[in-house]
Amino acid sequence: MVQNKIIPKVLAIDDSELIHRLLEARLQGEDLELHSATSSEEGLQKARALKPELILLDISMEGMNGFELLDKLKEDTGTQNIAVIFISGTDEPMDKVRGLDMGAIDFITKPFDAFELKARVRSALRNQYLMRMLEQRAQLDGLTGLWNRTYFDNRLTQEVSEAKRHQRALTLVLCDIDRFKRLNDQFGHPFGDRVLKHVSQIFSGGRTSDIVCRYGGEEFGFIFPSTNIERGCEVAERLRVAIEAAKWSGNPDLVVTASFGVCDMECLEGDVTPEAMLKLADKMLYKAKQSGRNCVKCAKKKKDEI
Ligand code: GH3
Ligand code: MG
Ligand code: MG
Repeated sequence: MVQNKIIPKVLAIDDSELIHRLLEARLQGEDLELHSATSSEEGLQKARALKPELILLDISMEGMNGFELLDKLKEDTGTQNIAVIFISGTDEPMDKVRGLDMGAIDFITKPFDAFELKARVRSALRNQYLMRMLEQRAQLDGLTGLWNRTYFDNRLTQEVSEAKRHQRALTLVLCDIDRFKRLNDQFGHPFGDRVLKHVSQIFSGGRTSDIVCRYGGEEFGFIFPSTNIERGCEVAERLRVAIEAAKWSGNPDLVVTASFGVCDMECLEGDVTPEAMLKLADKMLYKAKQSGRNCVKCAKKKKDEI
């Protein structure tokens, strides 16, 4: 689930065309993709759209200066973790103090030495890569490699607000393996772990836009963006069948099953919250357990309720 190393994007924001040409020449041959913006406004837009790993930021620019632009980047959760190196025409210590205190990671003075520039860019990208890797690891479940609950809760909040803003559908599914305690007791905890890993592999085979997480012990959560409940239930049913059909080496007669609760945003009234969606999906999961397990229970759309 951890992304492979990708070519890092570097965005240079400077109102001098000459500096862009120089940077292009100096950074040629480095393992990076260089983008440029010749005004702070264009720079801010590109930073938001491209989400580069590193920004090389001029201090003195028309309109918004580099410090003001850095402020804007730090205000926005989408851009606040981008590494910023200031490029300054002066060697003013107070500028350096201000920039570093505001969260820039380094400072390069123009005219820059090619070797020093490259070394500083490489060092910034190395640190950025490690930071992103650690961030991602902290959001993954150690046993299954799926997203963990912290990530899932944050992502659900984000997806609910996106779905509201763009009036798109959003389906939430909760799944719980049936009689898992008995399985552990009968075949041992390591076998239980194997079941969790294999079930996770089955769950990971869907669309890349689907978000799958290990919600807790033997519980899993799914967010299906742009998906209504009809389609969400079909997917849940397909997953249920796949688990039931799985073969377990060493225990050829064993059948593992799971129960699913499904709802989408149209199953709720008023201003939909992530908490309300989780509560409803959990209620449907409980209903699936009450109905004898190994089944999918879907909530009704508000407009279809009698
Ligand atoms: P139900 O059908 O009602 O869901 O019954 P259940 O036995 O699956 O539910 P219960 O919540 O009673 O038991 C869940 C079990 O999952 C208990 C716990 O020991 C086990 N479990 C939780 N995390 C792990 C894990 O990481 N590995 C293994 N092997 N077992 C785990
Ligand atoms: Mg459980
Ligand atoms: Mg269970």
